[in-house]
Amino acid sequence: MTVKKRIGLYPGTFDPITLGHVDIIERAVKMVDELVVGVAINRDKAPLFSLDERVRMTSAEMATISKKSGVPIRVVPFETLLMKFAEEVNANFIVRGLRAVSDFEYEFQMVGMNQKLNDDIETVFLMADVRYQFIASRLVKEIARLGGAIDSFVPPAVAKALKAKFQK
Ligand code: ADP
Repeated sequence: MTVKKRIGLYPGTFDPITLGHVDIIERAVKMVDELVVGVAINRDKAPLFSLDERVRMTSAEMATISKKSGVPIRVVPFETLLMKFAEEVNANFIVRGLRAVSDFEYEFQMVGMNQKLNDDIETVFLMADVRYQFIASRLVKEIARLGGAIDSFVPPAVAKALKAKFQK
């Protein structure tokens, strides 16, 4: 019997990638043979960084994690329905991060709907280290916009990119 390769899909907006996302990815690679990080176009959220910038910044952070874990990580943009994209990349499960109770409500509904679309793809939830649980891209952007220190929330390259964005 051949053992099926376990492919995980971690979708998000990653506008920009934070240490919270990085922590979730470091945990996710322990469970899979391959990880796809799906970067959603997400026009509704009017992202600060373009899709191309988000893909590039996210990819840059993946090299170290992939090397350390030996798990290949692909960063792929997507605009289609999440479950359709999961099927396209042959994902067996979707990884999501859970922060507080506020995340639960939304995720609870999403899982319910996604199960109806494809009941073979499971959603698993991971929690970041306590040091990173409160981090949200939205708040990091707000702090950066107002000139606050963001170095403890995002990787150094992202902090630089955020500072450059708001200096303009
Ligand atoms: P989305 O637009 O899908 O919420 P995000 O980029 O904001 O995309 O987040 C992607 C995933 O990462 C979500 O499951 C979110 O809950 C999770 N996540 C984001 N920040 C953290 C964090 N600090 N700790 C744990 N999970 C997180």
